[in-house]
Amino acid sequence: MRLDPAHRAEARRIADELASIARTGLVLPGSIAERSTVCGRAGCACMKDPPRRHGPYFQWTRKVAQKTVGRYLTREQSEDYTAWIRNDRRAHELLRRLEELGIDALEADPRTRRQG
Ligand SMILES: [Zn+2]
Repeated sequence: MRLDPAHRAEARRIADELASIARTGLVLPGSIAERSTVCGRAGCACMKDPPRRHGPYFQWTRKVAQKTVGRYLTREQSEDYTAWIRNDRRAHELLRRLEELGIDALEADPRTRRQG
């Protein structure tokens, strides 16, 4: 079947950007958070006024089969891997856009019949 030229052109742009992300090899799911905590022990600096919280700690988390799993990172790792996560999000965004083009094409296909 024939794609409309605008669809084809956008798909090419998406493919180019996806390829350039993939080529870096720097793709990581999940997210990185910076946290500082209060331990609650009486007399600890985190309980004083003003409080000095523990940390910061850097934590990478992701969902595996509905469960969140995590790893603690150094500050340097957190700086490095933030770009990997950004790449992963962009790659997903690009794939979703490609899917939208597919949905639009199917909806515009004169052979498609409405349901319900
Ligand atoms: Zn404390």
